[in-house]
Amino acid sequence: MNNFPEKTRVLVTGGAGYIGSHVVLALGQAGCDVLTYDNLSTGNRDAVLSGDLVVGDLADRVLLSETLADFRPDAVMHFAASIEVGESVTDPLKYYRNNSVNALNLIEALCQARVGKMIFSSTAAVYGNPEQLPVTEQAALQPINPYGASKMITERFLADLNQARVDFRYVSLRYFNVAGADPGARLGQDYANPTHLITRALKTALGIYPVLQVFGTDYPTADGTCIRDYIHVSDLAQAHLDALRYLNAGHASSVFNCGYGHGFTVNDVVAMAKQVSGVDFPVEQVGRREGDPAELIAGCDKIRQQLGWQPRFDNLETILSTAWEWEKKLVAQAER
Ligand code: UDP
Repeated sequence: MNNFPEKTRVLVTGGAGYIGSHVVLALGQAGCDVLTYDNLSTGNRDAVLSGDLVVGDLADRVLLSETLADFRPDAVMHFAASIEVGESVTDPLKYYRNNSVNALNLIEALCQARVGKMIFSSTAAVYGNPEQLPVTEQAALQPINPYGASKMITERFLADLNQARVDFRYVSLRYFNVAGADPGARLGQDYANPTHLITRALKTALGIYPVLQVFGTDYPTADGTCIRDYIHVSDLAQAHLDALRYLNAGHASSVFNCGYGHGFTVNDVVAMAKQVSGVDFPVEQVGRREGDPAELIAGCDKIRQQLGWQPRFDNLETILSTAWEWEKKLVAQAER
Protein backbone atom coordinates (compact mmCIF):
# COMPACT_ATOMS: atom_id res chain seq x y z
CA MET A 1 0.00 0.00 0.00
CA ASN A 2 2.88 2.37 0.65
CA ASN A 3 4.47 2.32 -2.78
CA PHE A 4 3.86 5.33 -4.95
CA PRO A 5 4.16 4.83 -8.71
CA GLU A 6 6.61 7.70 -8.99
CA LYS A 7 8.67 9.55 -6.47
CA THR A 8 6.24 12.18 -5.28
CA ARG A 9 7.81 15.39 -4.01
CA VAL A 10 6.03 16.55 -0.90
CA LEU A 11 6.51 19.77 1.04
CA VAL A 12 5.38 19.33 4.64
CA THR A 13 4.67 22.46 6.69
CA GLY A 14 4.93 21.69 10.39
CA GLY A 15 6.90 18.53 9.62
CA ALA A 16 8.91 18.95 12.84
CA GLY A 17 5.76 18.76 14.96
CA TYR A 18 3.99 15.81 16.50
CA ILE A 19 1.74 14.66 13.66
CA GLY A 20 3.81 16.16 10.85
CA SER A 21 6.94 14.29 11.93
CA HIS A 22 5.13 10.94 11.85
CA VAL A 23 3.92 11.75 8.33
CA VAL A 24 7.41 12.85 7.19
CA LEU A 25 8.76 9.51 8.39
CA ALA A 26 5.98 7.57 6.63
CA LEU A 27 6.46 9.54 3.39
CA GLY A 28 10.20 8.84 3.44
CA GLN A 29 9.58 5.15 4.01
CA ALA A 30 7.14 5.17 1.08
CA GLY A 31 9.84 6.50 -1.25
CA CYS A 32 8.72 10.13 -1.48
CA ASP A 33 11.08 13.10 -1.60
CA VAL A 34 10.18 15.15 1.45
CA LEU A 35 11.03 18.69 2.53
CA THR A 36 9.89 20.04 5.88
CA TYR A 37 9.10 23.74 6.33
CA ASP A 38 8.77 24.58 10.02
CA ASN A 39 9.46 27.61 12.21
CA LEU A 40 10.37 25.33 15.14
CA SER A 41 8.06 27.31 17.44
CA THR A 42 6.77 24.04 18.84
CA GLY A 43 8.48 21.48 16.61
CA ASN A 44 11.87 19.85 17.08
CA ARG A 45 14.65 19.66 14.54
CA ASP A 46 15.50 16.11 15.68
CA ALA A 47 11.98 14.92 14.80
CA VAL A 48 12.56 15.37 11.05
CA LEU A 49 13.67 11.85 10.12
CA SER A 50 13.31 12.08 6.31
CA GLY A 51 14.55 14.76 3.93
CA ASP A 52 15.73 18.27 4.72
CA LEU A 53 14.36 20.98 6.97
CA VAL A 54 13.86 24.63 6.04
CA VAL A 55 13.45 26.71 9.19
CA GLY A 56 10.89 29.28 8.17
CA ASP A 57 7.60 30.88 8.99
CA LEU A 58 4.50 30.81 6.82
CA ALA A 59 4.26 34.57 7.30
CA ASP A 60 7.55 34.88 5.37
CA ARG A 61 6.18 34.94 1.84
CA VAL A 62 9.61 35.46 0.29
CA LEU A 63 11.15 32.40 1.90
CA LEU A 64 8.01 30.39 1.25
CA SER A 65 8.01 31.26 -2.47
CA GLU A 66 11.75 30.59 -2.76
CA THR A 67 11.31 27.23 -1.06
CA LEU A 68 8.49 26.27 -3.43
CA ALA A 69 10.48 27.43 -6.47
CA ASP A 70 13.56 25.45 -5.39
CA PHE A 71 11.87 22.26 -4.28
CA ARG A 72 9.04 22.21 -6.85
CA PRO A 73 6.73 19.93 -4.86
CA ASP A 74 4.00 17.85 -6.48
CA ALA A 75 1.92 18.26 -3.33
CA VAL A 76 1.92 20.10 -0.03
CA MET A 77 0.77 18.76 3.32
CA HIS A 78 -0.06 21.56 5.72
CA PHE A 79 0.28 20.77 9.43
CA ALA A 80 1.79 23.98 10.82
CA ALA A 81 -0.83 25.41 13.16
CA SER A 82 -1.75 26.26 16.73
CA ILE A 83 -3.74 23.45 18.28
CA GLU A 84 -4.97 24.14 21.80
CA VAL A 85 -8.68 24.65 22.26
CA GLY A 86 -8.33 26.38 25.65
CA GLU A 87 -5.67 28.79 24.42
CA SER A 88 -7.78 29.60 21.36
CA VAL A 89 -10.53 30.85 23.66
CA THR A 90 -8.20 33.21 25.54
CA ASP A 91 -6.06 34.23 22.53
CA PRO A 92 -8.34 33.92 19.48
CA LEU A 93 -6.35 36.22 17.22
CA LYS A 94 -3.29 33.98 17.50
CA TYR A 95 -5.46 31.18 16.08
CA TYR A 96 -6.90 33.26 13.25
CA ARG A 97 -3.41 34.44 12.33
CA ASN A 98 -1.62 31.10 12.53
CA ASN A 99 -4.40 28.85 11.29
CA SER A 100 -6.28 31.06 8.83
CA VAL A 101 -4.08 33.96 7.69
CA ASN A 102 -0.90 31.88 7.42
CA ALA A 103 -2.82 29.14 5.63
CA LEU A 104 -4.02 31.75 3.14
CA ASN A 105 -0.41 32.82 2.64
CA LEU A 106 0.51 29.26 1.88
CA ILE A 107 -2.42 28.69 -0.47
CA GLU A 108 -1.63 31.89 -2.41
CA ALA A 109 2.01 30.87 -2.67
CA LEU A 110 0.94 27.45 -3.95
CA CYS A 111 -1.17 29.09 -6.66
CA GLN A 112 1.74 31.28 -7.73
CA ALA A 113 4.09 28.28 -7.80
CA ARG A 114 1.46 26.21 -9.64
CA VAL A 115 1.34 23.50 -6.99
CA GLY A 116 -2.01 21.82 -7.55
CA LYS A 117 -2.42 19.38 -4.65
CA MET A 118 -2.79 20.09 -0.98
CA ILE A 119 -3.62 17.95 2.04
CA PHE A 120 -4.89 19.99 4.94
CA SER A 121 -4.88 19.14 8.64
CA SER A 122 -8.37 20.01 9.76
CA THR A 123 -10.14 19.00 12.93
CA ALA A 124 -13.30 17.56 14.38
CA ALA A 125 -13.57 20.87 16.23
CA VAL A 126 -15.17 22.28 13.05
CA TYR A 127 -18.35 20.39 14.04
CA GLY A 128 -18.73 21.94 17.49
CA ASN A 129 -21.39 20.02 19.43
CA PRO A 130 -22.70 17.78 16.65
CA GLU A 131 -26.41 17.07 16.56
CA GLN A 132 -25.88 13.43 15.55
CA LEU A 133 -23.17 10.95 16.54
CA PRO A 134 -21.14 9.54 14.95
CA VAL A 135 -20.70 12.82 13.09
CA THR A 136 -20.34 12.46 9.33
CA GLU A 137 -18.60 14.79 6.90
CA GLN A 138 -22.00 16.17 5.81
CA ALA A 139 -22.80 17.54 9.28
CA ALA A 140 -23.13 21.30 9.70
CA LEU A 141 -19.93 23.12 10.63
CA GLN A 142 -20.70 24.92 13.88
CA PRO A 143 -17.44 25.32 15.79
CA ILE A 144 -17.77 26.36 19.42
CA ASN A 145 -14.23 27.65 19.85
CA PRO A 146 -11.82 29.83 17.83
CA TYR A 147 -9.58 26.83 17.11
CA GLY A 148 -12.37 25.05 15.25
CA ALA A 149 -13.47 28.27 13.57
CA SER A 150 -9.93 29.05 12.38
CA LYS A 151 -9.73 25.63 10.69
CA MET A 152 -13.23 25.91 9.24
CA ILE A 153 -12.27 29.20 7.58
CA THR A 154 -9.28 27.55 5.91
CA GLU A 155 -11.47 24.71 4.69
CA ARG A 156 -13.65 27.37 3.09
CA PHE A 157 -10.63 28.96 1.37
CA LEU A 158 -9.80 25.58 -0.10
CA ALA A 159 -13.34 24.76 -1.21
CA ASP A 160 -13.78 28.12 -2.92
CA LEU A 161 -10.39 27.94 -4.62
CA ASN A 162 -11.18 24.44 -5.84
CA GLN A 163 -14.38 25.79 -7.41
CA ALA A 164 -12.48 28.61 -9.07
CA ARG A 165 -9.51 26.64 -10.40
CA VAL A 166 -9.57 23.26 -12.08
CA ASP A 167 -5.83 22.86 -11.50
CA PHE A 168 -6.13 22.95 -7.70
CA ARG A 169 -7.38 19.95 -5.72
CA TYR A 170 -7.22 19.25 -2.02
CA VAL A 171 -8.09 16.75 0.67
CA SER A 172 -9.07 18.03 4.07
CA LEU A 173 -8.60 15.54 6.89
CA ARG A 174 -10.66 16.24 9.98
CA TYR A 175 -8.71 14.75 12.85
CA PHE A 176 -10.44 13.51 15.96
CA ASN A 177 -8.21 13.04 19.04
CA VAL A 178 -4.74 12.14 17.86
CA ALA A 179 -2.63 10.28 20.40
CA GLY A 180 0.02 7.60 20.82
CA ALA A 181 3.52 7.50 19.38
CA ASP A 182 5.53 5.74 16.72
CA PRO A 183 5.59 2.05 17.78
CA GLY A 184 9.41 2.06 17.52
CA ALA A 185 9.51 5.10 19.88
CA ARG A 186 11.46 7.06 17.26
CA LEU A 187 8.90 9.88 17.47
CA GLY A 188 6.16 11.13 19.75
CA GLN A 189 4.65 14.24 21.25
CA ASP A 190 7.24 16.63 22.66
CA TYR A 191 5.83 20.08 23.46
CA ALA A 192 6.96 22.45 26.17
CA ASN A 193 3.56 22.69 27.85
CA PRO A 194 1.40 19.83 26.62
CA THR A 195 -2.32 20.13 27.29
CA HIS A 196 -3.66 16.91 25.78
CA LEU A 197 -5.19 14.38 28.10
CA ILE A 198 -3.08 11.32 27.33
CA THR A 199 0.19 13.21 27.49
CA ARG A 200 -0.80 14.94 30.73
CA ALA A 201 -1.90 11.64 32.29
CA LEU A 202 1.31 9.81 31.43
CA LYS A 203 3.51 12.69 32.56
CA THR A 204 1.59 12.65 35.84
CA ALA A 205 2.34 8.93 36.11
CA LEU A 206 6.02 9.80 35.67
CA GLY A 207 5.83 12.40 38.46
CA ILE A 208 6.42 15.35 36.10
CA TYR A 209 3.06 16.79 37.17
CA PRO A 210 1.75 16.33 40.72
CA VAL A 211 -1.86 15.65 39.75
CA LEU A 212 -4.04 15.11 36.68
CA GLN A 213 -7.05 17.38 36.53
CA VAL A 214 -10.24 16.00 35.00
CA PHE A 215 -12.11 18.89 33.40
CA GLY A 216 -15.83 18.44 34.05
CA THR A 217 -17.73 15.51 35.51
CA ASP A 218 -21.25 16.77 34.78
CA TYR A 219 -21.44 16.14 31.04
CA PRO A 220 -24.38 14.11 29.68
CA THR A 221 -22.25 10.97 29.25
CA ALA A 222 -22.18 7.61 31.06
CA ASP A 223 -19.68 8.72 33.71
CA GLY A 224 -20.09 12.50 33.33
CA THR A 225 -16.73 13.07 31.59
CA CYS A 226 -16.21 13.98 27.93
CA ILE A 227 -16.05 11.31 25.25
CA ARG A 228 -13.48 11.48 22.47
CA ASP A 229 -12.51 9.25 19.54
CA TYR A 230 -8.77 8.69 20.07
CA ILE A 231 -6.85 7.82 16.88
CA HIS A 232 -3.27 6.53 16.85
CA VAL A 233 -0.87 8.96 15.18
CA SER A 234 0.64 6.27 12.92
CA ASP A 235 -2.81 5.39 11.58
CA LEU A 236 -3.37 9.08 10.97
CA ALA A 237 -0.04 9.28 9.13
CA GLN A 238 -1.20 6.44 6.90
CA ALA A 239 -4.39 8.40 6.11
CA HIS A 240 -2.19 11.18 4.67
CA LEU A 241 -0.40 8.75 2.40
CA ASP A 242 -3.76 7.35 1.31
CA ALA A 243 -4.99 10.90 0.62
CA LEU A 244 -1.92 11.65 -1.46
CA ARG A 245 -2.40 8.49 -3.48
CA TYR A 246 -6.05 9.51 -3.98
CA LEU A 247 -5.06 12.93 -5.33
CA ASN A 248 -2.27 11.42 -7.45
CA ALA A 249 -4.89 9.13 -9.00
CA GLY A 250 -6.79 12.23 -10.19
CA HIS A 251 -9.76 12.08 -7.82
CA ALA A 252 -11.79 15.16 -6.92
CA SER A 253 -11.25 17.26 -3.81
CA SER A 254 -12.86 15.85 -0.72
CA VAL A 255 -13.10 15.94 3.07
CA PHE A 256 -12.61 12.93 5.35
CA ASN A 257 -13.03 12.33 9.05
CA CYS A 258 -10.09 10.61 10.71
CA GLY A 259 -11.18 8.56 13.70
CA TYR A 260 -12.14 5.01 14.59
CA GLY A 261 -15.88 5.51 15.08
CA HIS A 262 -15.96 4.82 18.80
CA GLY A 263 -14.96 6.77 21.84
CA PHE A 264 -13.76 6.69 25.43
CA THR A 265 -14.51 8.92 28.39
CA VAL A 266 -11.80 10.87 30.18
CA ASN A 267 -12.19 8.42 33.07
CA ASP A 268 -11.64 5.45 30.68
CA VAL A 269 -8.42 7.06 29.49
CA VAL A 270 -7.25 7.76 33.03
CA ALA A 271 -7.89 4.13 34.03
CA MET A 272 -5.94 2.87 31.00
CA ALA A 273 -3.07 5.29 31.72
CA LYS A 274 -2.87 3.87 35.24
CA GLN A 275 -2.95 0.30 33.92
CA VAL A 276 -0.30 0.81 31.24
CA SER A 277 2.04 2.80 33.49
CA GLY A 278 1.42 0.71 36.60
CA VAL A 279 1.15 3.96 38.59
CA ASP A 280 -1.93 4.95 40.56
CA PHE A 281 -1.28 8.67 40.05
CA PRO A 282 -3.34 11.40 41.76
CA VAL A 283 -6.45 12.68 39.94
CA GLU A 284 -8.48 15.76 40.83
CA GLN A 285 -11.95 16.50 39.49
CA VAL A 286 -12.35 20.16 38.56
CA GLY A 287 -14.82 22.26 36.56
CA ARG A 288 -15.35 22.16 32.82
CA ARG A 289 -12.72 23.55 30.47
CA GLU A 290 -14.20 26.25 28.24
CA GLY A 291 -14.79 25.26 24.63
CA ASP A 292 -15.06 21.48 25.18
CA PRO A 293 -17.92 19.63 23.45
CA ALA A 294 -19.37 16.74 25.46
CA GLU A 295 -18.86 14.01 22.89
CA LEU A 296 -17.07 13.65 19.55
CA ILE A 297 -17.10 10.40 17.60
CA ALA A 298 -16.14 10.11 13.95
CA GLY A 299 -18.31 8.68 11.26
CA CYS A 300 -15.46 6.92 9.48
CA ASP A 301 -17.07 4.98 6.62
CA LYS A 302 -16.07 7.51 3.98
CA ILE A 303 -12.31 7.37 4.59
CA ARG A 304 -12.33 3.57 4.67
CA GLN A 305 -14.38 3.30 1.47
CA GLN A 306 -12.91 6.10 -0.62
CA LEU A 307 -9.30 6.23 0.57
CA GLY A 308 -9.03 2.52 1.40
CA TRP A 309 -7.72 3.48 4.83
CA GLN A 310 -7.07 0.48 7.05
CA PRO A 311 -6.11 1.39 10.60
CA ARG A 312 -3.71 -0.91 12.46
CA PHE A 313 -3.73 0.52 15.99
CA ASP A 314 -7.42 0.82 16.87
CA ASN A 315 -6.90 -0.10 20.51
CA LEU A 316 -6.79 2.24 23.53
CA GLU A 317 -4.17 0.12 25.27
CA THR A 318 -1.87 0.29 22.20
CA ILE A 319 -2.34 4.05 21.99
CA LEU A 320 -1.45 4.46 25.67
CA SER A 321 1.42 1.98 25.66
CA THR A 322 3.17 3.50 22.61
CA ALA A 323 2.80 6.95 24.22
CA TRP A 324 4.12 5.52 27.51
CA GLU A 325 7.27 4.12 25.82
CA TRP A 326 7.86 7.53 24.26
CA GLU A 327 7.35 9.43 27.52
CA LYS A 328 9.82 7.13 29.29
CA LYS A 329 12.33 7.72 26.50
CA LEU A 330 11.98 11.50 26.92
CA VAL A 331 12.74 11.15 30.64
CA ALA A 332 15.76 8.93 29.95
CA GLN A 333 17.07 11.47 27.39
CA ALA A 334 16.63 14.34 29.86
CA GLU A 335 18.59 12.43 32.49
CA ARG A 336 21.53 11.83 30.19
N1 UDP B 1 -8.81 16.78 29.62
C1 UDP B 1 -8.77 16.65 31.00
N2 UDP B 1 -7.60 16.93 31.64
C2 UDP B 1 -6.48 17.34 30.99
C3 UDP B 1 -6.53 17.47 29.59
C4 UDP B 1 -7.72 17.19 28.93
O1 UDP B 1 -9.77 16.30 31.62
O2 UDP B 1 -5.45 17.60 31.65
C5 UDP B 1 -10.06 16.47 28.90
C6 UDP B 1 -10.61 17.62 28.06
O3 UDP B 1 -11.42 18.47 28.84
C7 UDP B 1 -11.39 16.86 26.99
C8 UDP B 1 -10.58 15.57 26.81
O4 UDP B 1 -9.78 15.44 27.99
O5 UDP B 1 -12.65 16.50 27.49
C9 UDP B 1 -9.66 15.63 25.61
O6 UDP B 1 -8.94 16.83 25.65
P1 UDP B 1 -7.61 17.06 24.83
O7 UDP B 1 -7.04 18.38 25.26
O8 UDP B 1 -6.73 15.86 24.96
O9 UDP B 1 -8.11 17.11 23.31
P2 UDP B 1 -9.21 18.02 22.58
O10 UDP B 1 -10.47 17.20 22.61
O11 UDP B 1 -9.31 19.32 23.29
O12 UDP B 1 -8.69 18.16 21.20
